[in-house]
Amino acid sequence: MKLLQAKLVKYDAPQKAKALGVYPYFRKIESDQDTEVLINGKKVLMFGSNSYMGLTNHPKIKEAAIAATKKYGTGCAGSRFLNGTLDIHVELEDRLARFVGKEEAIVYSTGFQVNLGVVSCLTGREDYIIWDELDHASIIEGRRLSFSTSLKYKHNDMESLEKVLKSCKEDKVKLIVTDGVFSMEGDVAKLPEIVALAKKYNASVMVDEAHGIGVFGKQGRGTCDHFEVTKDVDLIMGTFSKSFASLGGFIATDSITANFLRHNSRSYIFSASITPASTAAVSAALDIIENEPERMENLWAVTHYALDGFRNMGCEIGNTSTPIIPLFIRDNEKTFRVTRMLFDEGVFVNPVVAPAVSPNDTLIRFSLMATHTKKQVDFALDKINKCFKQLDII
Ligand code: PMP
Repeated sequence: MKLLQAKLVKYDAPQKAKALGVYPYFRKIESDQDTEVLINGKKVLMFGSNSYMGLTNHPKIKEAAIAATKKYGTGCAGSRFLNGTLDIHVELEDRLARFVGKEEAIVYSTGFQVNLGVVSCLTGREDYIIWDELDHASIIEGRRLSFSTSLKYKHNDMESLEKVLKSCKEDKVKLIVTDGVFSMEGDVAKLPEIVALAKKYNASVMVDEAHGIGVFGKQGRGTCDHFEVTKDVDLIMGTFSKSFASLGGFIATDSITANFLRHNSRSYIFSASITPASTAAVSAALDIIENEPERMENLWAVTHYALDGFRNMGCEIGNTSTPIIPLFIRDNEKTFRVTRMLFDEGVFVNPVVAPAVSPNDTLIRFSLMATHTKKQVDFALDKINKCFKQLDII
C-alpha cells in the first residue's frame, strides 16, 4: 500500500457507521424534490432541505432554465473575466444589487466560492478578519487563505467581539464577517449591535445571507433588511442554492469594493461562470419571491407551529426562531441512530455530528419549507416524539 493510502485507510468512521446500519449520508433521491421525496422506492417527508421557499420544482423556474439552455447552451466554458459573461449574468447582477439594496452585485458559481474568494482577498497582511466561531465553513476557508490576522469571537457574543476589536491596531483594516442566520443552529446574528460596534471601531461588516434571503426582510431581502442595517453593512453575500432553487451565489457591495473583487477575487476569476440554466432559474425565482408574499407567510406559519410543537414536546432547540430548528441530542451515536429511525418512519432529517460540531453539541437539523403543511409537521412531530422517547432523548 502506498503511504497515502496507508494513512487514509485509518479514516474508518463511515465504515463503522455503515456496519451499524446507521450511515446517514448520500441518500439517493429518485423523484422530484418538494416536501415529499422518493428514496429507495420509499416515500419520505423532507425536513432536511434548504429550499426555504419550496421552489425547487416550480414549473415557471424549470421553464426558465430550459429556455435559457435552449438559447445559450448548457455551459459557459470560461470564467466571467474572459469569455464567460452572458447578458443574463449582468441583468441578474443588476437585479440582485437592487433587491438587497447595494450599488453592485457580482455572481459567482457557488455560494462557497463567494465566501472563499471575497474573505480571502479584501484584507492585507497587517489587517484583521474578525469572525463568529459558528460562521459557515466557506468563511473559515476564506480567512484561512488570507494573509491577514484572523481573530475569532464567541458566538453572537458582543462583549467578546468588542474585546477583539479593542485588541486591533487602530489604523489597520478590520473586517467583521458573520452569518445572518446561523446555518446549523438557526439563530440570528445581532446585526444592530454588530454594526454599532463596527462604527465605534471603524470596522467593515460582511453578512452571509445564505439562510436569510427569502426568509427575513421585506419580500425576503434578508436579515440586513429585517434589521434595517443594509446601509451600514458593507458586503452582503447570498447563495442561490437555498431559497432561489438554483446553484451559485453573489456578493453585493459598493462600486469601489466590487471593482476590486471583479479583478482580484480568485474563485471568481479562475473558475467558470454559472450556467445559463442556473442564472435564468434565479431570475424566475426572484419574480416569484417578489410577487408571492403568501409563500413567506406560510413558511413562518409552519415554522412557528413546529417551534411550538418541539417546545411542548420538551426538545432542546437552543436559540432558534427560524425555519432551521436544531434538535440537540448531544451524542454522536444517538444522533445517527435517531436519524435512521426517523427515516424508517418516513421522516428525512439531517444529522449534524462531530467534527462539524463538538461531540457534546450533536443535533438533528430540522428545516422547513414554504410548501410544508401543518399536517406534515404533525406527522414529523409525532414520529420524532416516538423515536426520541425510545432513545431517552426526551
Ligand atoms: N454560507 C452558508 C451560511 C451556507 O450555509 C452555505 C451552504 N450550506 C454556503 C455559504 C455555501 O453556499 P453554496 O451551497 O451555494 O455553495
